[in-house]
Amino acid sequence: MVKILLLKIVYILYYFAYIIARKFNKNRCENNFVSKSFIKFNNRLAIKRSRKKEIKKIALLLPHCIQNYSCPYKITSDIGNCRECGLCKIGEISKFVKMKNATVKIATGGTLARLFLKNEKPDFVVAVACERDLVAGIYDSFPMMVYGIFNELDNGPCMNTNVSLEDIKIIFDLVGKK
Ligand code: SF4
Repeated sequence: MVKILLLKIVYILYYFAYIIARKFNKNRCENNFVSKSFIKFNNRLAIKRSRKKEIKKIALLLPHCIQNYSCPYKITSDIGNCRECGLCKIGEISKFVKMKNATVKIATGGTLARLFLKNEKPDFVVAVACERDLVAGIYDSFPMMVYGIFNELDNGPCMNTNVSLEDIKIIFDLVGKK
């Protein structure tokens, strides 16, 4: 309990440092050094904590902007609506989560993501998001174990973003391993 409280203080300090650093970082596609350091610290801790608990249920949280912008299928309600056409990463991710029997949510915002976590109560979460959503989401969810991965903003923010499926696979393999 004391350890969790101390860690919460570290998270609060990191979060305030991030807000200050953000004011000096005008490029929305570039993650600042505080957010990178915070996510690195959080991710190491999440993996370490996962080794002390039985992980039965892993959830994957994805941002809606990974879906190809012109895709007509509504995957926010059900990733199963994806036709796996190859135009974006959703198809490959959909196959992977089915194979792993994991829960997946494509969220259109932080509120929906929080609601999903509240209802699903996973043992471990792998969350993909942009800097602001990822830092805020991980900060808000603590002490839930959330491993964060920044999405790639090669086409700018909020549209046709990307994520490495290999990175997601590596984390799924690492969770809970002694
Ligand atoms: S892979 Fe799925 S979500 Fe992506 S464009 Fe094709 S049908 Fe749409």
